[in-house]
Amino acid sequence: MSTDQVIMAGGGIGGLGAALMLARRGVKVRVLERAPEFGEVGAGLQLAPNITRMLKEVGVFEKIAPVSVFPKRLVFMNAKTGEQLTTLDLADAERRYGAPYVVLHRSDLLNALLEAAQAEENITLHTHSMVEGIEDRGDRVVVRTAAGEEYTGELLLGADGLHSRVRKEIVHDEPINSGYVAYRGAVPVEDVDRRMAMDEVVVWMGPGMHLVQYPVRAGKLYNQVAVFRSQEFLEGKEDWGTPEELDRTYAGMCESVRVAIPSLQRNARWAMFDREPAATWTKGRVSLLGDAAHAMLQYLAQGAGQSLLDGAALARALPVLGEGAWSSEALADALQTYEDERVAFAGTVQSTARTWGDIWHVDGYVPMILRDEVFRSRDVYDYSFVDWLYGPVQDAVAAQPAADGAAQPVGAAPVVPSAAPAESTTRTPAHA
Ligand SMILES: Cc1cc2nc3c(=O)[nH]c(=O)nc-3n(C[C@H](O)[C@H](O)[C@H](O)COP(=O)(O)OP(=O)(O)OC[C@H]3O[C@@H](n4cnc5c(N)ncnc54)[C@H](O)[C@@H]3O)c2cc1C
Repeated sequence: MSTDQVIMAGGGIGGLGAALMLARRGVKVRVLERAPEFGEVGAGLQLAPNITRMLKEVGVFEKIAPVSVFPKRLVFMNAKTGEQLTTLDLADAERRYGAPYVVLHRSDLLNALLEAAQAEENITLHTHSMVEGIEDRGDRVVVRTAAGEEYTGELLLGADGLHSRVRKEIVHDEPINSGYVAYRGAVPVEDVDRRMAMDEVVVWMGPGMHLVQYPVRAGKLYNQVAVFRSQEFLEGKEDWGTPEELDRTYAGMCESVRVAIPSLQRNARWAMFDREPAATWTKGRVSLLGDAAHAMLQYLAQGAGQSLLDGAALARALPVLGEGAWSSEALADALQTYEDERVAFAGTVQSTARTWGDIWHVDGYVPMILRDEVFRSRDVYDYSFVDWLYGPVQDAVAAQPAADGAAQPVGAAPVVPSAAPAESTTRTPAHA
């Protein structure tokens, strides 16, 4: 039986993206996806400049640009009072970070990656292939699927999502249920009672809830994500986060939020889980990427983007191993390079996403007026909250003199998270 260079467990955005970036650097990849076909849920996705900049560098951005929307502003609103609190000028953000902020339909992203992967002779794609058995034999790794097929590889990458089978080989933990639930979906724009402009990403923040709205697919569809803390979950009910609870939670919000709720799809809902940051994603010839490595709450809108960054980091680290059998030592070095670039940073994003959710969802009169005042008093062109995430700031912007002739403050240089354990690290939130 022949040996693959990389076996990728999971063909979601993370798995297909990584396979594509590896294949383009000459690495042969076999993707095993458990579902009958490659696909995504019918909802939207935001990709911030830190992600689109990398996608440009690796030649993937042109695949998704035609199916993306380029919003002009990110707007934060109080969901109870309807007051606009602050905005981020996304055109200015593009100039600052050298890449645009885009929103798109998940299927459009996945299909673009899939089509590009299908065109790569270094990639072999399988569906109906659920990875079950994993045996690291030291000089190779053997993978067995639920259907009984067996594949041998130099390296197994687990891109198999939140409930990853592969992660069990490396990290002994369980997903953490936040007690929040999401209703989400993209529907024809004419089906939504929409009060906000079509060139905006809007975040409505309220006690224990939020609503995010933005257009996708060239403005034909409107994406909405309604998220709330479930009282039914806290009461231990088995069936929690129900549509009735959704209606009760949003009934107390301002009119612009209330009118959006009837157009939400109710036939599916998602409990919000994350994981604690892990100190390592690798054991022997098995490593992780995407949600399998760093499942995070979605409040920074970075989960899929971070999985694509994993792929890019792997595509820089692994090709040095070249053709032929990869020695365990050389592979360990390459995976260490990958981890050095990614583990601590992704852990920081995981931790910060939790904090950011806590800020969005503050409850009680005093915490809420304090939160709103912080948002209100932010200078619209103050990027100190996002530089660490979206940076590095472009040289041309950093060198630009301010009106008084002094160098323009650009916030900290790109923040590289400290070597401190990712678990203890949080950053001032960006947004999502
Ligand atoms: C409400 C919400 C909003 C979000 N918004 C954003 C956003 O705006 N921007 C952003 O960047 N991120 C966002 N995210 C996060 C993003 O959706 C995830 O981080 C991303 O989809 C993870 O991709 P993945 O490929 O790692 O995992 P997944 O998408 O879960 O893919 C895993 C794949 O592996 C397959 N699989 C599972 N087990 C096996 C197995 N044993 N064998 C073979 N295959 C297997 C699955 O079928 C699936 O295809 C959001 C998440 C939520 C819940």
